[in-house]
Amino acid sequence: MLSLAGRERHARLKLKKYRNTSLARNGRLEHFGYCSSSVCVPPPPPEATWSEPSGPPPRDPVHVGGELSEQQARAALLCHVTDHCCYGRGAARHMNIAKINYSSAHHYELQTFTEKRETSWTFVPYSGGEVDSPSCGEAPEPWSVPAEPAQLFHDEVKVMEVPHTASAKDCHRCKGQGSLSCAECHGKGWTRCLSCHGNGWSADSSGYRERCYYCQASAYGDGKQDCLKCNAKGRVACPPCDSYGQVRCYIRLTISWKVTTSEHIVEHSSLPEELIREVSGQVAVEEEAAAVAPLTHYPDAAINLASAQLILEHQQKLCEQRVLAQRHQVRVVPVAEVNYTHKSHSGRFWVYGYENKVHAPDYPDRHCWGCCSLL
Ligand SMILES: [Zn+2]
Ligand SMILES: [Zn+2]
Ligand SMILES: [Zn+2]
Repeated sequence: MLSLAGRERHARLKLKKYRNTSLARNGRLEHFGYCSSSVCVPPPPPEATWSEPSGPPPRDPVHVGGELSEQQARAALLCHVTDHCCYGRGAARHMNIAKINYSSAHHYELQTFTEKRETSWTFVPYSGGEVDSPSCGEAPEPWSVPAEPAQLFHDEVKVMEVPHTASAKDCHRCKGQGSLSCAECHGKGWTRCLSCHGNGWSADSSGYRERCYYCQASAYGDGKQDCLKCNAKGRVACPPCDSYGQVRCYIRLTISWKVTTSEHIVEHSSLPEELIREVSGQVAVEEEAAAVAPLTHYPDAAINLASAQLILEHQQKLCEQRVLAQRHQVRVVPVAEVNYTHKSHSGRFWVYGYENKVHAPDYPDRHCWGCCSLL
């Protein structure tokens, strides 16, 4: 892991390199990078990147407890059986519960809330009016434009115009004319009449000739049909400038606030670990800071290790973004593995979470005729 000083140096070098390359392209707005179509991602200022956690906060020892009784396990199973139309209640009522093994699943979750800023040149049709050009003041650097997320730990995107970067220009597409040559008629306003092949007359089988019905009213004369695309004008509207002939160019700043979440589940029985995510448990550790310190005091070493690894992963993955806040928590979810016998069948089911949810993949009293697949 880079030290704080090392990271600052790294960020400063990147910013310098970025400025040097973009400076050559455009005098005044150099920090935005003057490239018409590509998006520039300025690195955040060094003081806004990862800060070194100032050591862990005072932490209380973590206690994990709570055991399910045999009656509670049976009640939970009965409840689970009731929810399945083709499960019989007999087995749940009469099974012999031989042993309950208690354990705790630990669900560690890390969230990093970051901000990313991107700039790109853009334009809108310009119909006149004030233009906030560089002569109105110096354009702020991308990271100096004030903007706050509406809420911490919520994804959000804000698009705004960078002050003092606008200019009015002739439209690049129509060169300021406000219209484009019609592609259908190549600017002529007419196309050759397909009905009379351009000669203006039609003849029936007896040889009787008459003016072609389709082109006789054309503004351009016999054999020519008015172009429908341009209403016989030869020119069509220019979409980029909305036919004003001019566009207002400016630098658009896109700010993305994003939550990156990583998690690790430690489950010691053979209950599928993804089930742990859906139930509630006791929040044993919950911390929020500008940068959280990896857990070192948690009773399960695998959680401490996961915490250190995931925090490091976020530092590496999100190093181009500004970190606004970080938080992590560990939830302890009680798990009871219930071993039972019923008639000649012996099996096990699990009761887990504060909701006492049940996972009983080999419940013996099932009479399914395919109805479950319809649910
Ligand atoms: Zn135009
Ligand atoms: Zn015709
Ligand atoms: Zn046309």
